[in-house]
Amino acid sequence: MEQADLAPLLAEALGIPLERAERLLQGRSTRVLRYRGLTYVVLRRDLGPHYEGTAVVLTRSGAVRVVEGYPHIRRILLLGTAVPRHFIDRVVVEEKMNGHNVRVAMIEGEVYAFTRGGYICPYTTSRMRRTYGRALERLFDSLGEEALVAGEVVGLENPYTRYYYPEAPEWDYFVFDIFKRGLEPLPVAERRGLVEEAGLRNVPQLGVFLKDDWREILEVTRSLEELGREGVVLKDPEYRVEPLKYTTSYTNVHDIEEGMKYPFDEGHTFIFPRLLRQIFKALEEGWSEERLRAEAERLGRALLEPALEAVEAVREGRQLAEEFYLTFTSVEELEEFTAHAASLGVPLTVLSIEVGGEGVRALLLKHKRSDEEIRRILKTGLSPLD
Ligand code: ATP
Ligand code: MG
Repeated sequence: MEQADLAPLLAEALGIPLERAERLLQGRSTRVLRYRGLTYVVLRRDLGPHYEGTAVVLTRSGAVRVVEGYPHIRRILLLGTAVPRHFIDRVVVEEKMNGHNVRVAMIEGEVYAFTRGGYICPYTTSRMRRTYGRALERLFDSLGEEALVAGEVVGLENPYTRYYYPEAPEWDYFVFDIFKRGLEPLPVAERRGLVEEAGLRNVPQLGVFLKDDWREILEVTRSLEELGREGVVLKDPEYRVEPLKYTTSYTNVHDIEEGMKYPFDEGHTFIFPRLLRQIFKALEEGWSEERLRAEAERLGRALLEPALEAVEAVREGRQLAEEFYLTFTSVEELEEFTAHAASLGVPLTVLSIEVGGEGVRALLLKHKRSDEEIRRILKTGLSPLD
């Protein structure tokens, strides 16, 4: 399908004039991709009521389906100020799981998994179909095909965000929203019931509180703190106001530590926002001198140690890169995935392939910019920043 043919479909799907759609298709705010029999347009920025990450899919039968982008969730810095101001009466506390956001749509009888950016991920789509194909069919049977399921993929076997969860060590999917049509969410209790009935997993619900009892919510985050879990998303039971998120101090520092393994990639953009979260946590929790000293040491180490290790690794001639395992059903599927990643500007190297009962297990390597940056500093002794 040529771009000229796409313009009228895009215009109609998004309710915009034809010339606007034509311009959008030529510019950098959209991308046109293909996945098996589907052509789809990805919105790379917000467009009117449609969020970045919206995908406009042209189906095999020629119909058009808009898969809405997942809305941004605002972050709380001070629970005691934000919670009573923002919420109406009750607040559902759900765990915020640390993985990657995946929207699942049923399009002409087939399940597709969309990343936060709006791309159909061939790997996630295949794993989703293998693990939850039947359950999703049941769910969409009761909801209708225009519904959209959103959840977090967690575990170590994904190409995006790897964080270990004992209840999902390799790969699993935890639903946190169902949109009936467009971005109309189902109430929390109804959604949780449907997810369970269908045989899918819900993100954990950690309690329902009155908004003025925000100290109890702070208590909930303290127990997550000890377990090394990311944080919470607070929701009105009926979504009358938008959800808010809040993360643990553990995660704020741990993210910096992970990010600083690659200082020129995640590292520098991670630091300030997480520092801000810690500052207001110290204020709200009234950290003692002793606690402040312990946190300062933890933070200082998170900033320096992984980066120093990275520099030493490069100096010793090792390559700085991320490595992870993915499991495919076939070698063709592995190739389909690496081609997809390359088309998005993320070249991956396949380090090894193991064919066994579980399918094809591949060890992949993702290149990091920090590798060259550090190499250059070691060679010239000069700063790339100033
Ligand atoms: P943004 O700030 O735009 O929301 P981000 O990538 O910075 O995106 P996060 O800081 O991880 O996102 O917080 C929002 C994300 O949290 C959601 O997009 C979703 O993937 C994830 N998430 C995990 N658990 C939940 C939950 N229970 N409810 C809603 N979202 C959740
Ligand atoms: Mg996240």
